[in-house]
Amino acid sequence: MTYCSLRSTIDHTGGDGFGYNGQHGKPRFDTEFFLLSFIAVTRVTKAAMRILVVTNQKGGVGKTTTAISLGAALVARGQRVLIVDLDPQANATSGVGVRKDLPNGIYGVLLKEQPISSAIVQTGLPGLDLIPSSAEMSGAEVELVPLLAGGSRWRQAMRGAGDYETVIIDCPPSLGLLTVNALVAGDGVVVPVQCEYYALEGLAQLLETIEAVRQRLNERLEVLAIVLTMEDRRNRLSMQVADEVRRHFPKLVARTRIPRSVRLAEAPSHGKPISIYDPSSRGAQSYAELAREIDHRLKSREAIPLSGAIA
Ligand code: ATP
Ligand code: MG
Repeated sequence: MTYCSLRSTIDHTGGDGFGYNGQHGKPRFDTEFFLLSFIAVTRVTKAAMRILVVTNQKGGVGKTTTAISLGAALVARGQRVLIVDLDPQANATSGVGVRKDLPNGIYGVLLKEQPISSAIVQTGLPGLDLIPSSAEMSGAEVELVPLLAGGSRWRQAMRGAGDYETVIIDCPPSLGLLTVNALVAGDGVVVPVQCEYYALEGLAQLLETIEAVRQRLNERLEVLAIVLTMEDRRNRLSMQVADEVRRHFPKLVARTRIPRSVRLAEAPSHGKPISIYDPSSRGAQSYAELAREIDHRLKSREAIPLSGAIA
């Protein structure tokens, strides 16, 4: 079932604001709320929110750059977007110009049951908000273990986040509990793959993990796109790797490829998404193109379930 059709099921359940503080439309994070079944959770779902999970256990492949740049490009398309920084490195946090040492970020939401509304901060780009990460998150993986059964807890938290069309979760470079829980909360997965020699390494394992989560924990989960990043058209190896990834995963690879671009590498040190830092750069234009492609895949229900997608 695509999540578009699931949404319409959800949206017609009526509902009495279960799990919500009716007055303010904010979620209650009490014990009862967390123990609600998935069905009850979905009753508070707002119409069209989709949760995208940007993940690849390989480090430095462009996850954070993609989360920020895609988020900002979706804002340019008129959406309200929330980036959730799940990585203890907190690169998405600093990358949009927010301090890494703010209290009550994602750690507070996940481990201390703090209201999600108190964790959201605005960025310099109107329409782009953030739930920041911090060094506290380094211990979160271990602390999450007893709470694993609450995979839907994440979903609840994100669903209560407010009036966003898209939530983008930036994952750490691992397939640990944080990433698995993000996959349980997610609708669509975006996998950045760097156009370099070891690109395919680990990809099969990642796709197997996604498939396992889909089968056992989250039937809505679909791979939206493998995104080739840091492509260098003058470099034969880069082009060969891109071809090879396309050959292995013909249906999953996005048409849009992200070029290697100095401006993309510079943008985080200015705390700005590329669409603000240098809107006319090739990097900004390619992420705008990717946003268009992903939007289209979502709207036309072209999201691809994993089975059959791998050559
Ligand atoms: P990690 O696994 O550590 O979280 P990541 O997968 O999130 O890393 P990024 O932080 O997005 O990867 O990118 C790694 C480095 O490469 C950063 O310095 C970033 O600025 C740079 N970078 C990302 N995309 C590009 C690109 N298209 N062109 C040039 N540099 C890039
Ligand atoms: Mg990162």
